[in-house]
Amino acid sequence: MSNLPLPLSAWALNVAPSPTLAVDAKAKALQAAGEDVCGFAAGEPDFDTPEHIKDACIAALKAGKTKYAPTPGIEPLRQAIAERYGSDYNLKVAPSQVIVSPGGKFSCYLGVLATCSPGDEVIVPAPFWVSYPEMVKLAGAVPKIVLADDRSGFRLTPAQLEAAITPKTKLLILNSPSNPTGAVYSRRELEAIVAVALKHNLYILSDEMYEHLVYDGATPSCVATFSKEAEARTIVVAGFSKTYAMTGWRIGTTVAPAPIAKAISELQSQMSSNVTTFAQYGALAALKEKEKTAAALKTMLVAFDRRRKFLHAELNKIPGITCLLAEGAFYLFPNISSFGLKDTEFCARLLDSEKVAAVPGSAFGAEGYLRLSYATSDEIIQKGVTRLARFCAGLKK
Ligand SMILES: *Cc1c(COP(=O)(O)O)cnc(C)c1O
Repeated sequence: MSNLPLPLSAWALNVAPSPTLAVDAKAKALQAAGEDVCGFAAGEPDFDTPEHIKDACIAALKAGKTKYAPTPGIEPLRQAIAERYGSDYNLKVAPSQVIVSPGGKFSCYLGVLATCSPGDEVIVPAPFWVSYPEMVKLAGAVPKIVLADDRSGFRLTPAQLEAAITPKTKLLILNSPSNPTGAVYSRRELEAIVAVALKHNLYILSDEMYEHLVYDGATPSCVATFSKEAEARTIVVAGFSKTYAMTGWRIGTTVAPAPIAKAISELQSQMSSNVTTFAQYGALAALKEKEKTAAALKTMLVAFDRRRKFLHAELNKIPGITCLLAEGAFYLFPNISSFGLKDTEFCARLLDSEKVAAVPGSAFGAEGYLRLSYATSDEIIQKGVTRLARFCAGLKK
């Protein structure tokens, strides 16, 4: 850096690298060096993409689907995404309202870029997904972090939202089920929050990436379905990465009111163009071959649910740790504040002494917690939580 002839941009200098990817990289490096690491840091399913989805992609590749496609996605995929909002949520969506982007992360960023100008404020409830504040900053806007800790089940209250709004507030970001906490808002809770956003004339970016990964009978809510007024201001982001074990495919989806969808498509046309053409045919098979896809999802959900309950029970047996039983995604977010250590210090020592990788809560705007992903094998969870218990017992002495 120091031998650059002139400085890098404010964007490059101010962006924080993803802490979740950093912990995961360090754990993988230790593993490569021969250490027996228990990794709880991964943010992706440990399952492979279902065969029928891969087959459809391979067939498309062989059939020459190797050229540029329309920026917002191939027509049959946009159609299938529009239809699935109809069947999943009874929401009437036109294919022109759908944009397929290179990953849900980019979908979120485009949603921010389409709605926020420099100086606008964006309300980001914490614990937040690590990329939201950085995306807001990369749009020149200002993230306003509002912490909802475990006392409120990691769910923002309407009063907290109300208190954080200023005349500059333009956008509210919601994420239920949540990464990192796994918390799922009830429809009533979300409706109360959306009412505040309506009253203050805000846009809403609803990141529903984990909508299908819910347990204990929890139901996901699609914010755009609440009312015509909610629909008119909501950008719904979802995707294939988490639900269908397709993180490496890079396919995210946005559903938005037509003028916003058009703006997002135009931004995308200058920033990335279409998602890899043949990959889109794999995504199409995920939506079209419904029975096979449902069976694959069911297999993952059964495993996730078993691990969720096991990990939750074991964590709460450890003196000094308390952990809520989250109803969604594949994360638990235990409170470790009783140990009197900074969470970064806790994680560094845990990795050093017990070779257990976890991401500190402060990476998500919530000091005093850990994010543990249970998208890993039952054996690793069992072994890792035993080591964590030993580590905590050592701290208590
Ligand atoms: C994983 C994730 C995304 C984006 O996933 P992509 O891999 O970019 O499709 C978006 N939001 C949340 C909360 C996530 O955890």
